[in-house]
Amino acid sequence: MDSKVRVRFAPSPTGGLHLGGVRTVLFNYLFAKHLNGKFILRIEDTDQTRFVPGAEQYIQDTLAWCGLTPDESPLHGGPYGPYRQSERKAMYKQYADKLIAQGNAYYAFDTPEELDAKRKEIPNFQYSLSHRLEMKNSEALSPEAVDDLLKNNTPYVIRIKVPENEEVSLEDVIRGHVNFDTNMVDDKVLLKADGMPTYHLAVVVDDHLMKITHAFRGEEWLPSAPVHVLLWKYLFGLDKMPKWAHLPLILKPDGNGKLSKRDGERLGFPVFAMDWTDPNTNTTTIGFKERGFLPEAFVNLLAMLGWNDGTDKEIYSMEELIAGFSLDRVHKGGAKFDYEKAKWFNAEWIKKMDNEKLATLVKPYFDEAKIEIHEHSYLIKVVGLVKERCNLLPDFIAQSSFYFQAPKEIDTASIAPKWDAKKRAFFEALTTIYQSKVDTGIITTPALELETEFKELVAKHELKPGELMLPFRIMLVGGKFGPGVFEIVEAIELKDTIARIQHSLQLLS
Ligand code: GLU
Repeated sequence: MDSKVRVRFAPSPTGGLHLGGVRTVLFNYLFAKHLNGKFILRIEDTDQTRFVPGAEQYIQDTLAWCGLTPDESPLHGGPYGPYRQSERKAMYKQYADKLIAQGNAYYAFDTPEELDAKRKEIPNFQYSLSHRLEMKNSEALSPEAVDDLLKNNTPYVIRIKVPENEEVSLEDVIRGHVNFDTNMVDDKVLLKADGMPTYHLAVVVDDHLMKITHAFRGEEWLPSAPVHVLLWKYLFGLDKMPKWAHLPLILKPDGNGKLSKRDGERLGFPVFAMDWTDPNTNTTTIGFKERGFLPEAFVNLLAMLGWNDGTDKEIYSMEELIAGFSLDRVHKGGAKFDYEKAKWFNAEWIKKMDNEKLATLVKPYFDEAKIEIHEHSYLIKVVGLVKERCNLLPDFIAQSSFYFQAPKEIDTASIAPKWDAKKRAFFEALTTIYQSKVDTGIITTPALELETEFKELVAKHELKPGELMLPFRIMLVGGKFGPGVFEIVEAIELKDTIARIQHSLQLLS
C-alpha cells in the first residue's frame, strides 16, 4: 500500500551530476521506497542565467542508468505538475504578495548599479537588517514614495524581511537540533524583477504544493535553511514543514574537504555519474558509466559512502538497500571517497553478473577496439573465463582480446633469457601433435586432456612443466597474464594455437 511519504530530488539543471548529487537522489529514493512512498524529480530552473542546455536530459539519463526511476517528474508526469519550475512561474507571485501583505517581505527598487556601488563601499556587504534602511526599498521609503515607484512600473524585486534577534531552528534527521541566529541571515530575494521566483521561494512553495513530507539535500544547503524555515512559518505553518535532512559531504580521498570535479581530474578518476560535455566550453568530464562501472556497483558504492546497516556487509542490491535503509544509520561526518574501493565494488558486481548480460555490456568496447566477434555465444563463454580478472568493463579488452585475435605483441623478452634448442624442439613437437589432430578433423580438445598430453610430452623431452608453461602462455596471449593456459588452448582451438606457437618460434630464432 502507498504511504503518504513523498520525497523529492530538486536539481538545478546547470551541469553534470556529481556523485554526491546522485547519492542525495539515492538516499531520497531508498527512504521513500523503504516506506512505499513516492520519489519526485523536480527541475529547479528558475535561474535562467545558470540554465545549461542538455543538463536536464543528462539528469534524467543518469537517474535511468542508476535505476532510480521517479514516480513523478517532467518526463513521467504526475498529479502535482508541472515538475519544471519555469513552467510554474504564475503560481509563485501570490505567495510573494501574501508575504508583503503580512509584513514578512518588502519591495526593493535598488538598481544593479546601486547595489554594486554599495558592495564597493562596504566590504562583504549583505542586504540585511543592518543595511536595510540605507537602501531603496519599501521599508526605508515612505508609503507614498513606494506607491509612486510602483505606479511608474519601476522594476523591483521582493525580499524576505528577516526578523531581528530571533532564533530559527530545525530538527535535522541526521544532525538533530540546528539553530540559526536571524541577525546572521540576509534578506534574500524571493521574486525577481521579471516575476520569476528565486530558488528560495520556489523550493518552499513547491515542497508545499507537491505535498513533500521529507526534504533531503546536500549539506551545502544548510546555510539557506533558516530562510526556508522562515518562509514555511510565514506561508504555511511550521507544522506543515517537511522533515529536513542535510546529507554529509563526500570528501577528497585524504579527507581534506569536499571532493570536487577538479580532484577527479587531478587524481585520474571520475566524479560525475556519466560523461558530461559542457556546451559552453565543449570540455568533457568523464563519468563512472563510461569508465566502465556497472550501475549496480555505482549505486552500491554510493550507498556505502555514508551509510551501513551496522554489519560488515558491503555488497547490496537495490532491493536489499531498499529493505535495509534507514536514515538513522547515515553518518553525520563526511565520507572519504576511495577510488580503489570503488573499483572493488565494480569487480564484485562483475563477478556476480550473469555472463550473458555481461557479454552484452562489454560488446560495445570490443566494437570500439575493432575486435570482431563472430559468435556471440563465444563472447559469453570468454566473458565467463576472464571476469574474475576485470575491475572495469574495458578491462575485458586487455584480458580477453587474445581469445578473438592473435596478440599484436609478444613479450619474447621474457622468454629469451632461458630459451634454448631443447625448448624449441619441445614446442615443435607440440605443434606436430596438434597438427595431427587437426588433420583428423579435430577442432579442439578439452583443457584437462590437453594438460595430460602436454605433461607426457614434457616428460618425454626430459624437461619440467614449470619451465614451459610461461613461454607457452606468452606465445598464446602475448604476456604474463590470463586464465589457465589449457583453457585458452581449448577456447582458441588447435589451428590458432599452432599458428601462435609458430609465430613465436620465428620471433625467437
Ligand atoms: N535546487 C537545489 C539544487 O540545485 C536543491 C536544493 C534542495 O534540495 O532544496 O541542488
